[in-house]
Amino acid sequence: MKWMLTCEQVVSKTSAFVDRDMSWTERLRMRVHLAMCRVCREYVRQVALVVGALRILPPQLPGEARRKRLMRLFRTA
Ligand SMILES: [Zn+2]
Repeated sequence: MKWMLTCEQVVSKTSAFVDRDMSWTERLRMRVHLAMCRVCREYVRQVALVVGALRILPPQLPGEARRKRLMRLFRTA
């Protein structure tokens, strides 16, 4: 089904999804995929945890720089 996101697409959109920076149709596509894919569900859950943790850290770095650094760490973990 063309409408379905692939796991790769879900991963690439995770940051925007967690930040609620996407249209409701995109969110719906994410949710449909996440409802069926345990791997992506776990990935999004962990990113959301990390992003949530970042928000309560002192702002020593601009938000975007911190997030990128953390996302990089996360991807190599
Ligand atoms: Zn998936």
